[in-house]
Amino acid sequence: MLGRTSPEKKGHDAAETAPIKAASDIAAFRLTVIFMLTVILAFLGVEGWRTWRDYHAAFSSARDSVTNLARATAQHAEDAIRQVDVLTAALGERVEGDGLQNINSPRIHKLLVQQAKLMPQLHGLFIYGPDGQWIVTDKEIIPDPANNADRDYFQYHRTHTDRNVRIGEVVKSKSTDDLIIPISRRLNNPDGSFAGVLLGTIKVSYFVDYYGDFKIDDKGALVLALRSGTILVRRPFIASVIGQSLADSEVFKNYLPVANEGIAEVRAIVDGTERLYGYRALTTYPLVVETGLSRESIIAPWRWDLIKTGFVLLSVISAFSVFGLIVLRQLRQRMVMEKDLRRAHQAMKDMALTDSLTGLANRRRLDTALVDEIRLARRQGSSISLIMIDVDHFKLYNDTYGHAAGDDCLSAVGMAISQAVKRPGDLAVRYGGEEFSVLLPNTDIRGAALVAQEILESIRSLRIEHTAHPQGHVTASAGIAVGRPAEHDVTPASLIDSADKMLYAAKQKGRDRYCSGGERSGQSVTGQQCD
Ligand code: GH3
Ligand code: MG
Ligand code: MG
Repeated sequence: MLGRTSPEKKGHDAAETAPIKAASDIAAFRLTVIFMLTVILAFLGVEGWRTWRDYHAAFSSARDSVTNLARATAQHAEDAIRQVDVLTAALGERVEGDGLQNINSPRIHKLLVQQAKLMPQLHGLFIYGPDGQWIVTDKEIIPDPANNADRDYFQYHRTHTDRNVRIGEVVKSKSTDDLIIPISRRLNNPDGSFAGVLLGTIKVSYFVDYYGDFKIDDKGALVLALRSGTILVRRPFIASVIGQSLADSEVFKNYLPVANEGIAEVRAIVDGTERLYGYRALTTYPLVVETGLSRESIIAPWRWDLIKTGFVLLSVISAFSVFGLIVLRQLRQRMVMEKDLRRAHQAMKDMALTDSLTGLANRRRLDTALVDEIRLARRQGSSISLIMIDVDHFKLYNDTYGHAAGDDCLSAVGMAISQAVKRPGDLAVRYGGEEFSVLLPNTDIRGAALVAQEILESIRSLRIEHTAHPQGHVTASAGIAVGRPAEHDVTPASLIDSADKMLYAAKQKGRDRYCSGGERSGQSVTGQQCD
């Protein structure tokens, strides 16, 4: 049957190249998929890295901003208070020198008015006696009753002898109703006893205005507080927040005890907003500034950029994927087409080498196989046998039963022959008309005789009626030729020719038999034998 090819022959077969082609197509397909995935991953990787870098850059620049803001506001607070500190120190010395009971009120008032005008932050300058009574101020009108003995700073100085300036919590001015920060110092009599208090007040609005000029986000915050935690000024300004304590905030609890300045990313206790804070404790005065940018304001531009980039990236990846999928689909279609083509090509080749009536190989196939097998036998030093089979009295069969029945008979004979041929390397062929042949590689005369015997027997046992035949049923005759290409010259033609001669001999001897001969062993040639 067709396909009974020796492994060596397959090497020359175009069918052999098909798996190689298919494998290279699969490799191309895989490479395309890998390439696409690599490009997509590279895109994602680069953009991911860029996004990560931008996120850190946003925080890094925010850190710089809050640090700079903290330095600026700290410097500003220090300058504002130092000026009042220096002024009250000088005034205190003068008042103490004159003695509080000998004070020249109109002159000192004039001096206070003059000094207060020089300092924009100053709300007022006041001198109180030992009982808290107002003695001199820079104000034109003195309220009635004019006594500040109830004020916290007054009570402090009366009971503390230290001469340093004291910064108090925000209070409402008795003279103007403004919110003010009291900067006070104790006045002594020459014997060191308590003589009264000298007070300079700073307007909270002075800080509020200054803090208002900074460009920070809506949720940002600027805070000036006492070291104890009490808030003096805050932007955004809410009156109720003034005087609240930050002592329990993370910055005061965890950060300030460790370092006088730094950065903290915390949630504010005043309004619950998450901020990046720059904080700084003043070294000369017990004050702390905090400058915070909301986390939202730091992240928002980055997030917006991420959304934009993500959208572009998604579009690019989608477009790329669609393009890639189209390429892959075309590749797939091409692969399927090539497979179909290969199949069709193979089928055509098979058809070209097959006999349509019997399904056996045809003569063309035998021609190629003969060349290949003779070459192989020469190389391997083996024998090669060819059996030619011819149906006996077939013309009479046709004449008796008709051409169509003749065809059926030939088909049955072909089947019987193919069944008798068992080894994978053997090739059963319809040689032409009612003639068949069987090529038996690596087979000597004994083996070939056995095969021929079996073929003739199986044709006989078909028991196809043939009334014109002396035996009454279809038979066939066979001629066997055997060659050893390694020892003498064997060609396809010589092998066919001698098999034909043996077939002729078998016919001569009475048909329904086989004759063999032709194998040379050394110099001797095996004689003709019929059976
Ligand atoms: P012999 O025993 O000597 O071989 O006698 P034969 O009649 O078989 O010999 P011959 O070669 O004279 O006749 C062969 C006949 O086979 C001739 C032809 O009618 C018939 N034949 C050849 N090919 C086909 C075919 O394909 N189909 C049919 N039905 N008959 C065929
Ligand atoms: Mg014939
Ligand atoms: Mg015949």
